[in-house]
Parts: sequence; structure tokens; C-alpha cells
Amino acid sequence: MSTVSFTDVRKEYDGSIVAVDGVSLDIEDGEFVSIVGPSGSGKSTLLRMLAGLEGVSDGEISIRERVVNDVPPQERGIAMVFQNYALYPHMSVRKNMSYGLKLTSDLADDEIDRRVEEAAEMMGIEELLDKRPGNLSGGQQQRVATGRAIVRDPEAFLMDEPLSNLDAKLKIHMRTELQRIQEELNTTTIYVTHDQEEAMTMSDRIVVLADGKLQQVGTPDEVYHQP
Ligand code: ADP
Ligand code: ADP
Repeated sequence: MSTVSFTDVRKEYDGSIVAVDGVSLDIEDGEFVSIVGPSGSGKSTLLRMLAGLEGVSDGEISIRERVVNDVPPQERGIAMVFQNYALYPHMSVRKNMSYGLKLTSDLADDEIDRRVEEAAEMMGIEELLDKRPGNLSGGQQQRVATGRAIVRDPEAFLMDEPLSNLDAKLKIHMRTELQRIQEELNTTTIYVTHDQEEAMTMSDRIVVLADGKLQQVGTPDEVYHQP
């Protein structure tokens, strides 16, 4: 089954800037799909529409065959990781990780606590649970942001340049970590990056956007090693 389907999706800002221009794309269960393309090509807009952070001007977005155009973000069953991590500075790591679920699910508190512990273990951040984000390194904050997404047990992870604020060495390390997580959980992942090497090494498929249109969709080999 497809986890996510875009059908003729279009986005205009202010009635004039066409950010996404007729995108149709199916993303299958468990796939790791990277979206690449130059700055301004519509990558973030595509992801933000899927997350429900931006409305769709035309076309349809479905998650597990349910049209979500009018479904609020917290009811879409997806979890997003942002470039700047978007952690709440005044909350502990533990609270950062549990807060979303406490607000939007009817899971019991001890189930949520269990999930937080499990995700923290997966990300190797058990020792950080009682700290505040401001006292963590960038790499640690990245782990917390990813852990917070895992806790939600979503249909899909949406990641918008999640590693771009890390130094080169840490980037490569986290690449392996994110791949490990995705393999372990088999959660569909949609990953926006401008880093060709990231896209090549991590993805099952790569989607190339240009001027809001799909320019190419294929395996890393198909996209980057054409004769
Ligand atoms: P990318 O993520 O590939 O850099 P974006 O989706 O951020 O591309 O942007 C696509 C186009 O839409 C760009 O021309 C950008 O300036 C424009 N855009 C993005 N967000 C807004 C917005 N909130 N209001 C107006 N224009 C926007
Ligand atoms: P990225 O390229 O990583 O998507 P940007 O720096 O282009 O990030 O955009 C950051 C924020 O500014 C986003 O929320 C985007 O929607 C908004 N934005 C981008 N372009 C415009 C624009 N032309 N007018 C208004 N908001 C914009």
C-alpha cells in the first residue's frame, strides 16, 4: 500500500508564486525517499503541505488512502524533524519527547513514558532526558528531535534538512544512525536535502524537483549514474 500519495498537487503563494506545480507521486510503505533540487524548487513546500503546515491550492494529498487536504496536522499520523530541531527550550528533553503525544493521543501516561524511554535508548540519549535543549550540543539536539519523532510511532517521518546544521563528521555518523533507525522501524521516510551524497547513500528512491515540478524519480543509480 502507498503510505503517501500526491495527485496533481499545486501550491501558489499570494496567488502568483507557483511553488509546487502539478506533482503526482506515490510513496510506498517502508520506503526512504529523498527530495532533492535547487533552493526554491519547492521541496519544503511539498513537505509542509504533507504535514498540514501549508494548505494545498489544488490537487489531493492522501495518507494511507485517506485524503488529508482538510485534516489538521496533529491528526495526520506523521512526525516532522526540522533543520533547526524546533525543540521547546523551557522543557526537559523528556518533556519535549512526550509533550506532543500527551496533547494529541489518548495513550496512558505510563505508555507514553515507556515509549520515551525506548526512543531515548534507540537514539542513545538516556542520560540527557532531564536536561534542557540549551545545554545540549547540536548533535545531541538532533538526536532529541529524531527521538521525539520516533515516540509518535508515525505512518511517516518527514525530515527537512535534518542534518544540515551538523559538522561534516557528525553528518556522516548521523546518516548511518538515521538509516539504522529506518531499517529497524521500517517507517516510511521522506527526506528533504540539498546534499547529493546524503540522498545517494540513504535513499531507496530520489525525487528531483525543479521549479515546482518533478524532474526525475528513480533509484540513486538511475538518478546519478546515467550515461
Ligand atoms: P525549497 O525548499 O526547495 O528551497 P521552498 O518550498 O522553500 O523551496 O520554496 C519554493 C518557492 O516558494 C520559492 O520561490 C519560495 O520563495 C516560495 N515560498 C516558499 N514559502 C513561501 C511563503 N510562505 N510565501 C511566499 N512564497 C513562499
Ligand atoms: P528553505 O529553503 O530551507 O525551505 P527558506 O529560507 O526558503 O527555507 O524559508 C524559510 C521560511 O520562510 C519558510 O517557512 C518559508 O515558507 C518562508 N518563505 C520562503 N520564501 C518566502 C517568501 N518569498 N515569502 C514569504 N515567506 C517565505
